[in-house]
Amino acid sequence: MITALAGGVGAAKFLLGLVRVIPEEELTVIVNTGDDIELYGLHISPDLDIITYTLAGIVDEEKGWGVKGDTFHCLEMLRKYGYEIWFNLGDRDLATHIHRTLLLKRGLKLSQATKEICKSLGVKANIIPMTDDKFETWIETDAGLMHFQEYLVKRGAKDKVLGVKYLGAETAKPADGVIEAILNSELVIICPSNPIVSIGTILSVKGVREALRATKAPKVAISPIVAGMPIKGPADKLMKGLGLEVSAYSVAYLFRDFLNIFILDYMDRNEKEEIENLGIKVILANTIMKTLEDKIGLARLVIEEALPRK
Ligand code: GDP
Repeated sequence: MITALAGGVGAAKFLLGLVRVIPEEELTVIVNTGDDIELYGLHISPDLDIITYTLAGIVDEEKGWGVKGDTFHCLEMLRKYGYEIWFNLGDRDLATHIHRTLLLKRGLKLSQATKEICKSLGVKANIIPMTDDKFETWIETDAGLMHFQEYLVKRGAKDKVLGVKYLGAETAKPADGVIEAILNSELVIICPSNPIVSIGTILSVKGVREALRATKAPKVAISPIVAGMPIKGPADKLMKGLGLEVSAYSVAYLFRDFLNIFILDYMDRNEKEEIENLGIKVILANTIMKTLEDKIGLARLVIEEALPRK
């Protein structure tokens, strides 16, 4: 079994390549739920849905999220009723949120509801939310404290970041299977995802970091910072807000207590030595995933480097 820690779009691109290199059934994905939010009475899990839709082959490839060919009639109608509609929820996508919310209301845990959704969409990988408990990422900004989605989507990441709070981290337990997956895997991959609000959240769940240190599996991360910048998303603003330099090195530094191998983009090759000084092996590669071939190539490289026998 191979386990991957994942946020949304960056991770989904990599995982699409990975399931062309290893059998999908052998993959467990532990997904960030710090971005989850309740809107219109529905439980929305953006990263779980991005990963699920991508592996199900129904994601809107251009955007990287949402369902291919979706329409937005429901949101239009909600606007007529006077609701704020800053979060883009397509009609087909809304069906997932309705289904998930009903399953949760029936008493299922988020991890069980996720399994149901995956089964219906034909996803064979084992997708697990990092926790079944309430956990929300809030951003402290010069305009006040707000939910991550409000910071990112509603206000367009325009506010100055002063800090990040993981609400629920003190009490949230890892969902069933999270710790076991890390401990019993032959390889753990940290996908190219936001190191603060996607991977940082997963690492903040009780026991996850300890399991990563304890597992005998090699741990490989793909840099989400290329040429000193994120490819998309607010990773730079969040890193700066936490007083970190925006660099691949900073990401490796955040994972230094458990990481064995770091896949660094050729464009950041000048950071290789500095990262190696953290005791981490560095492999240089093209990490920008535009085509399916790029995704498969990167996945193959990770497997060859970490599991040379395969
Ligand atoms: P999302 O934007 O909310 O889906 O956030 P993610 O947690 O998936 O993380 C976004 C991170 O993934 C950013 O730091 C991006 O730079 C990184 N990323 C996105 N696409 C790629 C890619 O093709 N290659 C690499 N190396 N990183 C990527």
